[in-house]
Amino acid sequence: MTFRPIGICWAITNKCNYKCPFCFAFTSKVNANYKIQLKIISALKKQKIKYVSITGGEPFLEKNLLKIVKELKKEDIFVSIDTNGSLLKKNNQILNYIDQISMPLDGSTNNICYKVRNRKNLLSIFDNAIRLIKTKQILIRANTLVCKDNIYDLKNIYNHINKYENKNIIWNLIQYYPINKAVSKYILNPKRYMSILKMFKSEQRINNIFLYHTKKFQESYIVLDPVGNIYIKSNNKHNIIGNILKDDLKRLLTKTKFFNKALHVMRYAKHL
Ligand code: SF4
Repeated sequence: MTFRPIGICWAITNKCNYKCPFCFAFTSKVNANYKIQLKIISALKKQKIKYVSITGGEPFLEKNLLKIVKELKKEDIFVSIDTNGSLLKKNNQILNYIDQISMPLDGSTNNICYKVRNRKNLLSIFDNAIRLIKTKQILIRANTLVCKDNIYDLKNIYNHINKYENKNIIWNLIQYYPINKAVSKYILNPKRYMSILKMFKSEQRINNIFLYHTKKFQESYIVLDPVGNIYIKSNNKHNIIGNILKDDLKRLLTKTKFFNKALHVMRYAKHL
């Protein structure tokens, strides 16, 4: 039986204005024009994809982003933007169209955030973004990369999110997995990580706390690069399995050994 995919991560650009030391974002060094982007949207429609997470690089560096989001929404696809948040103010029109935004929150102070990503004012950027989004019905994913620099700050981050009293904020605790390069300071002992997860699992004050283990979850993602090449992450590698403009995605996913179908369904169950 062929497998019907539900969600896609579309790495729309390889450009980013940050240089996070651990960056495990992926895009190949190719760029697409609007014509190709429209063809990709048609292919997603044909495959009856229900959820598109637009990522990068930094998606706001793609000049066609707003037009693309509008096209996806015409197809009634759930659209999420995965951004570092720094260019949101300039591009805030997008908040009228998207369903979800995903942003980093690695510490309860600018100082701790700096230690994690080597970048100033990251907490202020997150806080300003939350203020901008406040009146919109948009889900917000606050992503914390749990590492040696913020492990003792998690309770404070939790309290910081709580201060917003915004039921639409989902806190994602993410375990580093060296998909592109290993940076030892981010690698936590798995037992330690699991004990942290337990610490927060029973907490109900935040709407949702999703506990990711990036190694486990990487095989549930289908990643498109800017020109439609399809990648599945597995065993610390990005494996190219075809191109959405030329190949039948369902057939490719049924054949490939890299893709974890059960996890994919679990991950996107809400969007079935
Ligand atoms: S903001 Fe995201 S894409 Fe850009 S360098 Fe950092 S982790 Fe990579």
